Amino acid sequence: MKSISIILPCYNEEEALPLYFQSVDPVIKDIKDYTFNFILVNDGSKDKTLDVMNDLYQKRNDIEIVTLARNFGQNPAIYAGLSVCDSDYAIIMDADLQDPVDLIKTITEKFSEGYEVVSPHRANRKSDTWFKRTTAGMFYKFVNAIEGKKVIPENVNAFRGISRRVVELFNKLPNKDRLFLNDVAFVGFKTCYVDFVRQKRAAGSSKYNVNKLFNHAFNIISSGTSQPLFAVLKYGAIFSGIFFLVFLGLLISYCVINTGSLISYNHTLTIFFILSSVFLALSIIIFVIGIIGLYLHNVLINTRNQPLFIIDRVVKQEEKEDLNPSLSDKEENRVSD
Ligand code: UDP
Ligand code: MG
Repeated sequence: MKSISIILPCYNEEEALPLYFQSVDPVIKDIKDYTFNFILVNDGSKDKTLDVMNDLYQKRNDIEIVTLARNFGQNPAIYAGLSVCDSDYAIIMDADLQDPVDLIKTITEKFSEGYEVVSPHRANRKSDTWFKRTTAGMFYKFVNAIEGKKVIPENVNAFRGISRRVVELFNKLPNKDRLFLNDVAFVGFKTCYVDFVRQKRAAGSSKYNVNKLFNHAFNIISSGTSQPLFAVLKYGAIFSGIFFLVFLGLLISYCVINTGSLISYNHTLTIFFILSSVFLALSIIIFVIGIIGLYLHNVLINTRNQPLFIIDRVVKQEEKEDLNPSLSDKEENRVSD
């Protein structure tokens, strides 16, 4: 029988985790063709998430706990989970029941049909706030427009089912500016989409504030495509050409035809016009420097070659009797490379 690891990145999910297991148990009991285990990644939680994990670990026999050295973020937590996964398939989902557990059955059916990547696709975003819905919609359109093709399918997130081959590939990818969403799009393989309606959080609150969401959006673009750099070059050349012609026209009109009407008759308007042009030009330059800076940031991350995550401890079922997070001699330090 094939095995599936369900990987749950968790940051301050003490309330959500027990609810998750209440909901998932009837679902996996109903699936006869696969065996399941859960890889719970504690991403430096500050609440009692680790205690809840330990409690689940004691009561059940299908739990592995990966404790990261600090909070690294959702993406590194997913990769940490994948690094210890030795099952035939992995399903990555939120621990807050926003990704419906019922879909696990559909994903296993797709695995049985031979799909290596199963991407749940949000049929609508009604559970999101107006702000998140609108900005997310604009974001996907923008990314796919600059790339000229669908790099990132709209309305999919980290909720995925992937095969062993894909897990191993991810574990071998050397770059450090990685995002799970981009990596899934990058590797390809036989992929299918299944529709789902994202639920409201069962408990706790979202770990993404507006600032984090914007940073995440910029990271998706800069680590997924270098098209913005080409766009800056292309549009920079086109606008330079246009403004050169405008400048030439003004010069000719002023010197040769000598109308000079704009300059002599409406002094205030001229100053306003010149100042706004200067500010517009400055903001465009700052924006372009920002874009280049983003890519430089990725180069820096890759040349530093720091690990994506650092694992403090992995607890597997075999070590059940040894469980005691405070015992330093049992600690296992791992880094990703
Ligand atoms: N998460 C994490 N580390 C973080 C932030 C989030 O492991 O630094 C986990 C979180 O516990 C959840 C998943 O990633 O299981 C998605 O986060 P969240 O639900 O807050 O995001 P949203 O669904 O609101 O986009
Ligand atoms: Mg969530």
